[in-house]
Amino acid sequence: MWKGKNKALTFSFDDGVTQDIKLIGILDKYGLKATFNVNSSLFGLKGKVYPFGKEAEHNKIRPDKVAEVYKNHELAAHTLTHPTLTVVDDQTIAYQVEEDRLAIERITGRPCVGMAYPGGGVNNDDRVAKVIREKTGVKFARTITPTYSFDLQENLYRFNPTLSYMDGRLFETAERFLKLKADKPQLFYVWGHSYELDVGPLGWDGFEEFCKLVSGKDDIFYGVNSEILLDK
Ligand SMILES: [Zn+2]
Repeated sequence: MWKGKNKALTFSFDDGVTQDIKLIGILDKYGLKATFNVNSSLFGLKGKVYPFGKEAEHNKIRPDKVAEVYKNHELAAHTLTHPTLTVVDDQTIAYQVEEDRLAIERITGRPCVGMAYPGGGVNNDDRVAKVIREKTGVKFARTITPTYSFDLQENLYRFNPTLSYMDGRLFETAERFLKLKADKPQLFYVWGHSYELDVGPLGWDGFEEFCKLVSGKDDIFYGVNSEILLDK
């Protein structure tokens, strides 16, 4: 797996907002790969969010721009309209996930096989994961629960990231990963929302510093989520 390497790094970003364009510019500069989890019914919608007690733009990429913006990376589902899946019925879960997945395939002409659970707090459970596994074409679903670990996980339908890039332990975790002499597959999985870089403590400079630190290593495979999680 991973082209013969035992270490892999991947990113996952949610909501498909216009700050993704700037973020992709940085990823591409350093040869890094990400999966972007988007809500196909909300493309083009304008709004605001308030992370870290500050106002940030939350404008979604326009539908006619989606394929072009994300062409070097992977698109995955994030449901049609971003409901909390733990409080809706099985039929709604399947509809929200599968219709989003199929819409993304139509818009890009590429397979869409992953997703990230929408919403904060308790946004997934075993019932939701079972519906997704049995009733949709999704093959992995990411939570927001940090593991601070690089070990591979059995359950790809409640897959936990290593951490968010807004986590205060980002750089120490990166250093730990870089120093690792891996004799088994080890994955560093980082997730976030690009709008957080407009207002959060990491900032765009901090994100670029992180990308520079973790990029260009001969012993690390850089790939989108499906290349890394589904590679056998
Ligand atoms: Zn979201």
